[in-house]
Amino acid sequence: MSDTIEKVKCLIIGSGPAGYTAAIYAARANMSPVLYQGTQPGGQLTTTNEVENFPGYPDGITGPEMMMQLQAQAQRFEADIRDGWITKVDFSGDVHKVWVNEEKEIHCDTVIISTGASAKYLGLDSEQKYLKLGGGVSACAVCDGFFYRNQEVVIVGAGDSACEEAHYLSKLCKKVTMLVRRDEFRASKIMATRVKNTENIEILFNTETDEVLGDGQVVTGVRVVNNKTNEKHDIEATGFFVAIGHKPNTDIFKGFLELDETGYIINTPGTSKTNIEGVFVSGDAADHVYRQAVTAAGTGCMAALDAERYLAAKDSTFEVSTSSYN
Ligand code: NDP
Repeated sequence: MSDTIEKVKCLIIGSGPAGYTAAIYAARANMSPVLYQGTQPGGQLTTTNEVENFPGYPDGITGPEMMMQLQAQAQRFEADIRDGWITKVDFSGDVHKVWVNEEKEIHCDTVIISTGASAKYLGLDSEQKYLKLGGGVSACAVCDGFFYRNQEVVIVGAGDSACEEAHYLSKLCKKVTMLVRRDEFRASKIMATRVKNTENIEILFNTETDEVLGDGQVVTGVRVVNNKTNEKHDIEATGFFVAIGHKPNTDIFKGFLELDETGYIINTPGTSKTNIEGVFVSGDAADHVYRQAVTAAGTGCMAALDAERYLAAKDSTFEVSTSSYN
C-alpha cells in the first residue's frame, strides 16, 4: 500500500462513451476529474468496427477512433486520464475510498461509475479469431446489423435480447438462422412468438455452434451440431451474432451499492444517483435495456451534472459552473 493518499474531487471509473462524457462535463465544471481507463481503454466500442448511428458523424467513424476523439476532448479541458484498474472500493464511510492496482489509495468527494458491461461470447477459438479481425462476429445487432443487409446471418441465443436482435436483423437481412441450445426459448412468450412468426427467421432448436467458418479474413458460415443427434451441418452466413447475455462490470461494488439480480447497479430513476450519496452511475453498468453509445454518453453527462450539484450542496465554496449547462 502507498503511504500517500491522493484526494480527488471527482473520480471517474471507466473509459467508454459514458466515462469520457462525464469527464468532459466534469472538467468544464472545474471539478478536476481524474479518470481511470481500466483494462480496455475505450470500452466495448473498441471491439466495434464502424459506428454509424452516433449523431454527428454523417460518414460514420470507427469505434477506436471515436474513443480517441472523446478522450482528446476530455483532455482539452484538462481531465486527468490515467492508465490503471480500480481493484477495490470502500463506500462505507463519509469519504469514498478507491484503490488503484491494489496499491494506490484515493479519497474521493464524488465517484462516477462508468465501468460498462461485457457481452458474453461462446469462447470458441474461431469465434474469437473473427471477432478480433472484425471479420463478421458481433454481439450487437443494432450496431452492426446494417453491414449485413440483404445477406444471410446466424444468431445464437434464446433470451429476449436474442429475439429482439433476430427480429431487428430480419428487417435488414435476407435470412436469419437462430440457434437455440434447448428445445425452448428463455424469452418472454411475446418475443418468442414474434420471431416464430417472422418468415425469414429459421429457428434451429437443440442446436449449438461447433465452429465459425471463414476464409481467414471474414466469416463465410457456421458449422452447427444438433445436441440430441450429434449431427453436424454447415450454414452459409456472412455474419455471426452472439446474443447470450451481458455481464455488467460491477463486481467490486458488491456489498456497497444496490445491484439487481444480474449485477446491474440500481439508480434512482431519472437520475444517475445510487444508494450511496456522492456515488453516481452512468452507461451500461446500470442499463440492460438500451446499451447504446449515445445513451451511455447521455447518462455520463447526467452523472457529471448530478455530481456537480452534490458538491455544490455539500461545499458552499464550490460554485456550480454555468459552462456545464451550455
Ligand atoms: P438471458 O440471460 O435472458 O438469455 C441468455 C440466452 O442465451 C439464454 O437463452 C441462454 O440459453 C443462451 N445462452 C447462454 N449461454 C449460451 C451458450 N453458451 N450457447 C448457446 N446459448 C447460450 O439474456 P438476455 O440478454 O436475453 O436478457 C437479459 C435480461 O434483459 C432479461 O431479463 C431480459 O428479459 C431483459 N431484456 C428485455 C428486453 C425487452 O423486454 N425488450 C430486451 C432484451 C433483454 P438457455 O435458455 O438455454 O439458458
